[in-house]
Amino acid sequence: MKGKTALFYVLLSLAFFIFGVACLWQFAKNREDTQPAAESLAESSTLQDQGQGKMPGQQEMQQTKAGGGAQEEATSEDAAQEEAEKEETSQKSDGAAEELPSDDALLDEEEAVVSETLATLIRQEHDRIVVLDPGHGGEDLGFTATEEDREDEILLTEKDFALDVALRTKALLEKEDIFVIMTREGDTEEELKDRVDRANILPADFFVSLHLSLKDDSQLHGMSVIYNDQFYSRGYGSGDLAEQLLESVTEKTMEKPLGIFPCEEEDEEVRMIVMPGVRLEMGCISNRQEIKLLGRDDYRQKVAEGICEGLKKAFESRQTEKSTEDTENE
Ligand SMILES: [Zn+2]
Repeated sequence: MKGKTALFYVLLSLAFFIFGVACLWQFAKNREDTQPAAESLAESSTLQDQGQGKMPGQQEMQQTKAGGGAQEEATSEDAAQEEAEKEETSQKSDGAAEELPSDDALLDEEEAVVSETLATLIRQEHDRIVVLDPGHGGEDLGFTATEEDREDEILLTEKDFALDVALRTKALLEKEDIFVIMTREGDTEEELKDRVDRANILPADFFVSLHLSLKDDSQLHGMSVIYNDQFYSRGYGSGDLAEQLLESVTEKTMEKPLGIFPCEEEDEEVRMIVMPGVRLEMGCISNRQEIKLLGRDDYRQKVAEGICEGLKKAFESRQTEKSTEDTENE
């Protein structure tokens, strides 16, 4: 028994000895592994210092985290390098923004050049050019008219009415050899500012935006025109165009003229346009009788004929004024 106990203690001591040596070896190995990682961290910190001088808070946080262990250090090192690369890229693009235009600006510039070339070509070919702007489109329905007792049943949307009348007007104007540019030809939605910007690049004589109106008084019906009094085409101004259009359209449709009004702050498309521009409000969607009329094909055609007639007269008046000026100059 004694011999066996002694052997047991010898074996136990040996086991402890081996365990101790293994631990020491592991410790030494860990130290070796940690050394290069710590060095890399130092390097990447330098990168960070160069690239990220403005954000010391974030840098400190990453360094604190990195103190945790070899693996964490490696992750943090990657992150630090990524940060530095990102920063370098963004610095590059920042620098580029100062010297070279961004991609967006280049595209805009390219678009502008194309538009200008197109504008010149159109102008060479056509003496009379009109921009038709059917209001709203896509998700933007504009005003809607519903069945009297059923709010969910839409009878009419402003976007559809405006587009339909615009397309009819376009066909009529083209027969008269008046060149038409549409801000939309389908059920599409575009920022108002983009539509107006595009129209402003083109060399049109008149801009006509087509809408309906909604009045508090449901008894009220008829048509009105809002105009931008800043611009003239050969002596013919937006106010003249507004008067002429209202006269022609109400004559054709036998609808009541509600008047012409200079644009206000909220009449954005008319306010932003840089040519004689008007917004024709072709009817009150708040009036039950008017809704019925607006839904009819023959009525829509009459509205289009009225707009076409008004524009034709506007061009005639403009030319007359020009010829008068020419005679005066001679
Ligand atoms: Zn509208």
